[in-house]
Amino acid sequence: MKILAAIARETGKPFSVEHIEIEEPRQDEILVKVVATGVCHTDLVVRDGMMPTPLPAVLGHEGAGIVEKVGAGISKVKPGDHVVMTFNSCGTCPSCKNHDISYCHEFFPRNFEGARSDGSSALSQDGTPITSNFFGQSSFASYAICNELNVVKVPADIKLELLGPLACGIQTGAGSVLNALQVSQGDSFVVFGTGSVGLSAIMAASAVSATTIIAVDMNDDRLALAKSLGATHTINPGKVNSTEEILKITGYGAKFALDTTGIPAVIKGAVESLAPKGTCGILGASGPDTEISFNETHFMSGGRRLMGIVEGESNPDVFIPELIRLYQAGKFPFDKLIKMYDFQDINQAVKDSESGVTIKPVVTMPAA
Ligand SMILES: [Zn+2]
Ligand SMILES: [Zn+2]
Repeated sequence: MKILAAIARETGKPFSVEHIEIEEPRQDEILVKVVATGVCHTDLVVRDGMMPTPLPAVLGHEGAGIVEKVGAGISKVKPGDHVVMTFNSCGTCPSCKNHDISYCHEFFPRNFEGARSDGSSALSQDGTPITSNFFGQSSFASYAICNELNVVKVPADIKLELLGPLACGIQTGAGSVLNALQVSQGDSFVVFGTGSVGLSAIMAASAVSATTIIAVDMNDDRLALAKSLGATHTINPGKVNSTEEILKITGYGAKFALDTTGIPAVIKGAVESLAPKGTCGILGASGPDTEISFNETHFMSGGRRLMGIVEGESNPDVFIPELIRLYQAGKFPFDKLIKMYDFQDINQAVKDSESGVTIKPVVTMPAA
């Protein structure tokens, strides 16, 4: 079948929207008619050649759509179901068996290698294969093939176009707070970086009634938005010393900190901002050789903790519907982060995301 897709052809170059071929779903696969897909930082990291995913490739990993066709072995969803497509996993390793699927031992190959496990691709153009199966979906396209393990059924009574980002960026921020750090009522929480992940973390902390929610960012407009979404305090480290400010606001330091930047100096500051027995989560994507350092005595003697977090430690089948219920209850207004673009304008969406004009771009497919 012919489909429309945005192809990353060359490192660092804009996507090219072209017609390509997609195969029929195999017996363990699901064909989804894509309605909309979020644009995530990880798509751009891969387009820019910082990961070994081979180009040309169809990227996109925050897809939302309607099931079109299922293979004979599929029972989780049926044609007509509304779904989002999230990260992929193997289903059989110790992490998957323990429902810690964001730490699947095969997370990297299943999400970044860009092929089925037998090495084949469902996408091609004039007989030449194109890298597919990115995060088990490659959803920058009018149709995508995914698997039972990375498809999540969502209610049909909510605007499907909004839901794709719940599958990665928003799940990462909210899940870090609710699943990994387990921030709760009365806690103090500080987030470094107020992009879509940081703002989602703030909304989640607000939803569980954390008492002190501090946003740290160099961008005053973002800080204003953070405040409107639940931050009780904001700090611009370009103007004041953020560690001193956090100690002043909290008295002893924060019980929880979350770094979304991946910048070693920021992580050091986040750890220094912790109260005794405080925990700092880190989730930023830094270069493969990045190392972090902080003071041993401060860290050890305060019983402080540092925690790496992937995809908000979410079990998406459970967590995405939970986020939708919070949204419907008015406690998680993630739609305020989203701006829609026509699929043809995907390069503008990328540009606006890179310049910070748009927090979470979503590209929508033509109706036909
Ligand atoms: Zn696994
Ligand atoms: Zn992502």
